[in-house]
Amino acid sequence: MRISRGHERGRASEKRSGGATFTGGVWADPVLVDQDGVLANSVFFEPGGRTHWHSHGYGQVLHVTHGEGYIQSRDGQGFPLTPGDVVHIPAGEEHWHGAGPDTYVLHLAISIGGADWLEPVSDEDYASVFR
Ligand code: MN
Repeated sequence: MRISRGHERGRASEKRSGGATFTGGVWADPVLVDQDGVLANSVFFEPGGRTHWHSHGYGQVLHVTHGEGYIQSRDGQGFPLTPGDVVHIPAGEEHWHGAGPDTYVLHLAISIGGADWLEPVSDEDYASVFR
C-alpha cells in the first residue's frame, strides 16, 4: 500500500482569488504538480467563485466530486455540474467554470500545458447560466 499524502506533494492548499485568473474564493490543492507538463488540481470554489474566461492549450478534463457548479462556453451555452459529471474541454475552447451563487463545488481539474487567461466573467454572463 502506498499513500500519497496531500500536502507532502508540493504545496499546501492555496487560496487564489482576486487575481488574474479567478473571481471570488477559490482554493486549489495540487494533486500532481507539472509532471511532464501534466497538471492536476483539486479545486474548491466558494459560492460565487469562478474562473475567468480561459482556454487550455491541450484541453482539460474536469471531474466533479462534490457540490453544484456551472460551466459555460463562449458561445453562451451553460450547463450545471453535479457530482460524477466529467467534462472534456477541447484545446482552445474558451470557457469558465465555478460554483453557483449559493452552492460550492469541488472538482478535479486535469490539464496538459498552459492556460490562456482572459477577462473576468461578468456578473451578467455568470447569472445567465442559472437563470
Ligand atoms: Mn478550464
